[in-house]
Amino acid sequence: MLLMPLLAALLGACAGSFINVVAWRLPRRESLLFPASHCPRCGVPLAFQQNLPVLGWLLLRGRCGNCRGPISPRYPLVELLCAGLWVAVLQASPSAMAGAPTWLQIGAGWLLVSWLIPLVLIDCDHLWLPEPLCRWGLLLGLAVCLAAGLSQSGQVARSLVFNHLLAACLGLLAFEGLSALAERLLGRPALGLGDAKLTALLGAWLGLTGLGVAVALAVFSGAAVGSAGRLSGRLGPSQPFPFGPFLALGGVAVWLAGEGWWLQPWSWWGVSL
Ligand SMILES: [Zn+2]
Repeated sequence: MLLMPLLAALLGACAGSFINVVAWRLPRRESLLFPASHCPRCGVPLAFQQNLPVLGWLLLRGRCGNCRGPISPRYPLVELLCAGLWVAVLQASPSAMAGAPTWLQIGAGWLLVSWLIPLVLIDCDHLWLPEPLCRWGLLLGLAVCLAAGLSQSGQVARSLVFNHLLAACLGLLAFEGLSALAERLLGRPALGLGDAKLTALLGAWLGLTGLGVAVALAVFSGAAVGSAGRLSGRLGPSQPFPFGPFLALGGVAVWLAGEGWWLQPWSWWGVSL
């Protein structure tokens, strides 16, 4: 059955194309829908075939058809990443969605990864996680839980929403507390408040256990990349770097691979206890 993965890749690439628009225009406070996609250098609008995800960039060979200005390879790469994640979501069975109908599980996963990619891009570009994106992402996560619960029973819905709401609140409070503590110890802001809001968003989607695993993955991967950057001299001693991408990575990893797997390292080698 190749039809579903193909369809997912196609839709995911189109979502990635819109995500590129969001990541560019939202920080610049431009409308997301008008005007149509255009070259940021000369302003000439893109023709239909140049607007196709990945293919458009290849057709243009990475240069604007009018002014020959370079177009960043980031655009097709984001479209490919989104397509790949949309295909990966087809195989996921996240615990928040356990027992919910398959279409709901898949739709929820697609929504989550498509919500996280623009946050990651904007955090990388501007060291900023826009508050409205975090807030609406959090509310969407709770709504998805409610739908997943209600598709089974009122009791399941209540306990799911309670668990995930608690995870969102704890995530927010823990990160804000940690940020205040770090600021007091270091004498400068160490963790952005956006990180607390993104953690709350992930809590709403992943629940308590899932959030714990995602944050642990984010801290380990962030520390590894941060130390590598400092040791290699690419990152100055007090130069800030975005933590949002690591949180998002942890969140997506837990959504796709489940939470138990990370907690039982011996299972990586096929040993069951
Ligand atoms: Zn141009």
